[in-house]
Amino acid sequence: MKALIVEDETKTGDYLRKGLSENGFTVDLATDGVDGLHLALTGEYDIIVLDVTLPGKDGWNVLTELRRSQQTPVIFLTARDKVEDRVKGLELGADDYLVKPFAFSELLARIRTLLRRGKVQQPDVLKIADLELDPLRRRATRGQSRIDLTAKEFSLLHLFLRRQGEVLSRTFIAEQVWDMNFDSDTNVVEVAMRRLRAKIDDGFGQKLLHTIRGMGYIMEERD
Ligand code: CA
Repeated sequence: MKALIVEDETKTGDYLRKGLSENGFTVDLATDGVDGLHLALTGEYDIIVLDVTLPGKDGWNVLTELRRSQQTPVIFLTARDKVEDRVKGLELGADDYLVKPFAFSELLARIRTLLRRGKVQQPDVLKIADLELDPLRRRATRGQSRIDLTAKEFSLLHLFLRRQGEVLSRTFIAEQVWDMNFDSDTNVVEVAMRRLRAKIDDGFGQKLLHTIRGMGYIMEERD
């Protein structure tokens, strides 16, 4: 699961990033509205936590522009408990809101509710051949065997299952799963891919993860 936090207050931003990371999210943090909107439009997020008062571009503008093309669930944070603010946010297309100060556990509960709601349109369990991954229960199985995955391996497999049949470059994978940028060392990706492949493909006749030389990796069924 990938989360974007758009929050200019360092303390709150760091606190949210830490909390969400500890709960299994890959987290990006933007500290102004311009960066926040750019990330929201280019990254693939499962949830966006958006502060309303932001430098550069306020939360309302970010939300308005985001909703022209994307339906990523958004929870906005407002410092004022004003009915007009809540109505405005929901009218602009936010899915939920929290009034500051709030307890992290409450934010997490709201996020989980939204993610569950979002799942109605998507199948809960992602599949290829006899490999299955259940993101909510955080379970992976191949045939009758349970596969034990680390948090990163889980995110990797989740990414490949969502993008079946597409060649994913090491750089793209690094950005999606590790929050690393273009200059990062992609050896980390190669090592993790080798471990993941050993876990899901070793001992099975049909291989699902394939290397495309010079380009990256692909998950697909081949005869
Ligand atoms: Ca703020």
